[in-house]
Amino acid sequence: MHPVQFVSLGPGEPELITVKGLKVLQTADRIFCPETLTKDGRRISRAVDILLQLDIPENTIYRFSLPMNKQREKALEAYNQVYIDASTLQQKGEKVCIVAEGDAGFYSSIHYIYEKLQTDCIPVEHIAGIPAFIAAGAKAGLHIASQEEQLTVIPGITTAEEIEKLINRKRAIVIMKLSQCTDEIHRCIRLHPEYCYHYFENVGTPEEMYINDSKRIATLRFPYFSLLIIRPKAF
Ligand code: SAH
Repeated sequence: MHPVQFVSLGPGEPELITVKGLKVLQTADRIFCPETLTKDGRRISRAVDILLQLDIPENTIYRFSLPMNKQREKALEAYNQVYIDASTLQQKGEKVCIVAEGDAGFYSSIHYIYEKLQTDCIPVEHIAGIPAFIAAGAKAGLHIASQEEQLTVIPGITTAEEIEKLINRKRAIVIMKLSQCTDEIHRCIRLHPEYCYHYFENVGTPEEMYINDSKRIATLRFPYFSLLIIRPKAF
């Protein structure tokens, strides 16, 4: 029996998938792929965009709809259905993949399905991928953390004071899900214009943006696909 394979797609640029991940996708019978329905009724999926750019046959891609925002209940319903479909196909001997952007085990709610399969003793495999913050750091030529420096990753809920404490302890910080803490980030920049702020949007896509001018960052509304790397002032 083939394990259900969780393939990490990387943050957006198709070539940032691993060779191993690509090979698995190319021989898959069925690839479960999340999409979102927008308010105006469009079906969007960065994961599908990546798969199509990698020339993965469209007839192996099975889209499932995830709600926007934090509708946890609805998301779990969708994941439970994927769990049922994926395990049924796996038992029939099919090669089943489930994809996630970035790395599938880093702030990836799809991991819920992985754990559910594992609990039921269905073999699973997680194929590692490049998380968005690593690709972002590379784009800007940053040494994200160096020598004894520690790195803290914050998933959106934070305050200017928390950031200040971490920077005082010489920590490097990655903040993801920025749209959840826009006001606090703006306030932190006003309080501490001396920190080094690196802002990234839509890394690895044609809409990619990198801004390190803190005054400009303090005026931005942050979309879902954005992150910030903050480092103590360079000496
Ligand atoms: N599994 C993903 C993270 C998913 S959580 C990973 O390994 O990177 C979603 C958050 O990741 C977003 O809110 C954003 O902060 C960040 N993110 C994911 N893709 C991104 C991209 N292409 N550009 C900028 N930020 C991104």
